[in-house]
Amino acid sequence: MITWKKLTQKERQQRIEKALEENVNFAHDASLGYPASKLDNKVFNSDAPFLKDAPTLQTYVANPNHIGCHTIGSSEKAFSGTQEMEREVLKVLAVDIFKAEADSYDGYIAPGGTEANIQAIWMYRNYFMNHFQAKPDEIAIIASEDTHYSIPKAANLLLLDRYSVPVHFDTRELDNAALENLLVSAKTNGKKYFIVVSNMGTTMFGAIDNPDDYISLLEKHQLEYQLHIDAAYGGFVYPFSNKDSVINFENPKISSITIDAHKMLQAPYGTGVFICRKGLIENVLTKEAEYVEGMDLTLCGSRSGANAVAVWMILFTYGPFGWCEKIRVLQMRTDWLCEQFDAMNIKYFRDPNMNIVTVEAKYIPHVLEAKYDLVPQKHDETNEWYKIVIMDHVEVDHLSTFIADLKSTLHAEKRTAPQV
Ligand SMILES: *Cc1c(COP(=O)(O)O)cnc(C)c1O
Repeated sequence: MITWKKLTQKERQQRIEKALEENVNFAHDASLGYPASKLDNKVFNSDAPFLKDAPTLQTYVANPNHIGCHTIGSSEKAFSGTQEMEREVLKVLAVDIFKAEADSYDGYIAPGGTEANIQAIWMYRNYFMNHFQAKPDEIAIIASEDTHYSIPKAANLLLLDRYSVPVHFDTRELDNAALENLLVSAKTNGKKYFIVVSNMGTTMFGAIDNPDDYISLLEKHQLEYQLHIDAAYGGFVYPFSNKDSVINFENPKISSITIDAHKMLQAPYGTGVFICRKGLIENVLTKEAEYVEGMDLTLCGSRSGANAVAVWMILFTYGPFGWCEKIRVLQMRTDWLCEQFDAMNIKYFRDPNMNIVTVEAKYIPHVLEAKYDLVPQKHDETNEWYKIVIMDHVEVDHLSTFIADLKSTLHAEKRTAPQV
């Protein structure tokens, strides 16, 4: 770990206060040009006594705007203090967790995983257009059938064709034979450039795609491609539960990663993270964004600096060992649940390094779906799976109540079923 460590409450408070001092202070400084200010004082009283010991909330009230991208070129000077904290967050993620070389990446805290994924696909589309004179209909998006719906959304917005790779029902692994057929037929249909999205934790199953499946087939067929990792779900789990993970920037074929802090890290909503290798993000420079100092390389435009500070707070409260411990606990609870299912001969999918268990729907009586807020794969009668996500608030006590309930419901069903 280069940057990431645990800090005391006092150290955290001092770091944030220093950052806020380096930002413009709308209460004291004469700042005339921005359509921005601190939060309306009539509504959000900045003298409220509880704010004194709550530096993240102080940042919300100060309301810094982190518009633009702060790992490259110049940035809006008014918010340089909290922008530096955003760079600290990105460094922990890119270098300490996803093993990039220092200063070899660009990135920002996006409104969410959806925006970060669209940013990635936009960036690669333009990369192929700028460097290869590609036409949009020569570019294809490739991702598995379990991929998050932000990828079809990106395909729709960016007018790109998308090919969906089937997965095996039980293992949720990519069907490599189908992938190869699909690449060959895409090539026949005039596709020359491929934007690949490989999942680190699918939303429904927590399945981890193997990026090498994509890499080896694309290279076998000598196809031009760029590879994005969607770690919105698994980015704060998998690298910690699987110390041998090689899905990171040490693999030269991986060029960008999406990570959601507002899922497993329990940060406030509005904290997706986008990180890419240097030399790529320039492809989405909007030259017309002339009023923004340093110009804008992001999809979203204005965004809250307080979100960066909130993520920083979580990372530096836990530190790397504290976070590993938290993931360990979730893993142990997930193991416990799987042992119960095994004992009951109930079939489920779980990646051994993830905290999601997805059970075949036929084992789950309907009454329990609503009672325990289980999430179905599809909200109609074709549903085949329910998922259970072992978060901080899901304790073994809750799981054991659920298991007891499941046992008695199944038992009652068996007794009332007609004898054969
Ligand atoms: C949740 C999720 C997203 C999108 O995230 P939002 O933060 O809801 O925009 C993208 N990919 C995966 C795999 C996800 O689980």
